[in-house]
This record gives sequence, structure tokens and C-alpha cells, in this order.
Amino acid sequence: MDRRQFLKTGALAATGAVYFGGAHLYLSDERWTPNQSYWVSRGRAPVNPPMEGDHSVDLAVIGGGVTGLSTAIHAREMMPNLRVALVEAEYVGYGATGRSGGILDNGTWVGARSGAEDTVGFTTGLIDRLGIACDLDRVNSELDPYKYAVGLKAAAEGAGVRVYEGTRVVDIDKGNPVQLAGDGFSLKAPRVIVATNGYMPKLGVAAERICPVHTGVAVTTPVPDEAASALLRVVANTESTVWGREVPGKRMLMGAGAEYYYDNGLYDSRHRDLLRALRRSMTSEYPDLASYPYEFTWSGPLGMTGDQEPVIGAEGRDDNILYCGGYTALGLAMGTRAGQWLAGMLEGVDPPDWLFRETFRFPGEPLRYIGVNGAVNLMNLGLWG
Ligand SMILES: Cc1cc2nc3c(=O)[nH]c(=O)nc-3n(C[C@H](O)[C@H](O)[C@H](O)COP(=O)(O)OP(=O)(O)OC[C@H]3O[C@@H](n4cnc5c(N)ncnc54)[C@H](O)[C@@H]3O)c2cc1C
Repeated sequence: MDRRQFLKTGALAATGAVYFGGAHLYLSDERWTPNQSYWVSRGRAPVNPPMEGDHSVDLAVIGGGVTGLSTAIHAREMMPNLRVALVEAEYVGYGATGRSGGILDNGTWVGARSGAEDTVGFTTGLIDRLGIACDLDRVNSELDPYKYAVGLKAAAEGAGVRVYEGTRVVDIDKGNPVQLAGDGFSLKAPRVIVATNGYMPKLGVAAERICPVHTGVAVTTPVPDEAASALLRVVANTESTVWGREVPGKRMLMGAGAEYYYDNGLYDSRHRDLLRALRRSMTSEYPDLASYPYEFTWSGPLGMTGDQEPVIGAEGRDDNILYCGGYTALGLAMGTRAGQWLAGMLEGVDPPDWLFRETFRFPGEPLRYIGVNGAVNLMNLGLWG
């Protein structure tokens, strides 16, 4: 390609990217993709009533995934007199937690980090101590993540946390006390923990540091033993772009693909693209599995930072709003561990320093859309992360 052609191609590509980014400017989509995971499809636990009216507590936790639930439990254990309310927009486990593969791993997505060497031991220890029934398989470090979330909720309530479901915070007044508000309720608290991971930017917290990136998962119909063991070998290969595990009934759960939706979007209108990407990666690495249909398919938002490792930060007038998120695809054990760190911070105990490092600040749209999708496409190709 000569210089002129190169410039012409570059200009066309840039125009196309800006066009596709810009086209979304008019589509401010506030919807969230429902949780259609295999775990939740097998049966939902009863849901608590929403918060109504005006309330005031010592600590408000936003988000009913592993991070929020673990924080609330540890906060009550450390400070038994603290009045703690946890508000969850839908139901506990609705977010990434209840859509995950349920695979526990130590460290972060990038590698080992001080204090995170044994997050799996920390998590299984908590499960044992709280007596949570979540189909924990200790040999393979796997569990049912939705049952885990529901068990954490019961443990939180047992420890004295008030858990409100169907309670979506839509406004945060970052003064002191912080005032949270949503449909039919307000909640005042001197300290707030935001544990909404990929949902965080839409809430106006850590918006420059954390991005929601969606990934697709599928569970096959039952497969014969030899197909199962071949597939397990594929997903165990660290070079593979497909990850997965076996789930009850000789089915295989597999995930792959990543995509960012304009303006930190949380509605997966292009769910089918992710599944096509998953099917493509899967069949290229293990062609025999092409013949097994998917029985369950879903997607969910990962929280991602510029360096793919979690961060803790503070916002608000007196730094009284703490957040932790950005685990990429390794958040179950890490989020559980982070809960204890966040609770400790309320008592002046600092987590490991690396969690406070400076991270890349994502630009606004349309650059964010173009840049983040460029990066996740490298991930899709196995060239980054
Ligand atoms: C498809 C998929 C597969 C994954 N597989 C694995 C895996 O196998 N192993 C692993 O370790 N990690 C995995 N991860 C990553 C892991 O699931 C997450 O990092 C982890 O669950 C994050 O937990 P969390 O509590 O911080 O956030 P979430 O589980 O996302 O919880 C946040 C909660 O906040 C609520 N919320 C959001 N906004 C508001 C609001 N305004 N008001 C009130 N509530 C709000 C949401 O409804 C949600 O329930 C996977 C992630 C995805 C998406």
C-alpha cells in the first residue's frame, strides 16, 4: 500500500469509527440486560421488599454482588453496633456475580499481588465459617455463584445487615452525610461503599477509572465424557481465548468474547455478536464441539480498569464514599477478599498499597467507545490480557 492509499484507508477507518460511535450519541440506553444465566434459570430465591420512605444508617452499601455482601458482613463483624443497610437494584446475584462461571482463582487477572495470594482460601474459609451451601467443589475451586450470593445475603442478614432488593440508587449527593435517592426512597449515611463494579460509571462513581465490558457465556446440552475431557483440556490451556468448566448434568459452560457498549451501556442489544464470537473461538479450538447446541446463553458486565486489575478509591466531600471494582474476569474470590479490606478501611486499616495506585483515566465518548473496543478486540484475538 502506498502512502496515499494508507492515508485514505486510515481516514476511512477513523470516519467509520467516529460514525458508529457518534450514531449512539442519540441512544442513551438506561436499560440493563436481565440475568439469564444457567444458575439463576435453575430457580430464584425469594427477594426482599424494596426500601420505602426516608432512612438513615451508619453505613450504606450499594450493590448485592460478592463485593457488597462481603463488605456488609465484615463491617458488622468488626463493628457490631454499626447500622448497615445494603441496597440492591434488582436482586442479590443479579449482576456479574450471578452470571459468572463460578470459578475461583487466586490473585488478579494480571497475576499475583500482595495480599491476594490466597483469595481462594479466604473465600472457601468464609463459606465454611458461614455455612453457605453453594455446591463448592474444593478440588477444582468451583461453586454455584448465584447460590453463593444468596448464602452471603442470608449470612449478612444473620449478622444484622438490612438488605433491600428492588432498590436502585439513581442519585448520589456526595456531601456529608451522603444522600442516596431512588424511586420512593432516600437513604442518608456518613459513609457509603459503592460495590457496583461494571455498573459503577452509570452511577457517576469512578467513571473515569472503570469501564463495563460485556462478555458472553453458554452452557451446552449434555456432552459425552470424551468431549467433556477434551474441552476441559482446551479451557485449561492458558493460551486459549475460551474459558470454561463442567456444570451439573454433564454440560459444559464456556465463555469468550468482550465488547463495550457506548456511554457505559449496560444493555446487551448485541448479545448475539458475543455468542457468535464464543462459537467461533470454541469451534476453532475444538471443532468437535460445534455440533453441541447451547441450552443456556447469557452475557454480563465485567468491570475493567486500564491495567485490568482492581482499584480502591474514595470520592465525596470528605472521601466518605469508598469504591472497589475492576476485577476483569477474576472477581469472585477477589471481590470477597475486597469486602474485608473495604470494611477494614472504615476502622482505619489500610489494604495493600497497590489497590490505591493511579490508573489510566478513560476519556469521554466517542473516544472511549473507540479506544475500549480497540483494546477488547485485542483481547478477543488473544493479543492482550
Ligand atoms: C459472564 C461473566 C463470567 C465471569 N466468570 C467469572 C469466574 O468464573 N470467576 C471469577 O472469579 N470471576 C468471574 N467473573 C467476574 C466476576 O463475576 C465479577 O468480577 C464479580 O462478580 C464482581 O462482583 P461485584 O459484587 O463487585 O459486582 P456485581 O456482581 O456486578 O454486583 C453489582 C451489583 O450492583 C447492583 N447495582 C448496580 N447499580 C446499582 C444501583 N444504581 N443501585 C443499586 N444497586 C445497583 C447490580 O444489580 C449488581 O447486582 C465473570 C464475570 C462475568 C460478567
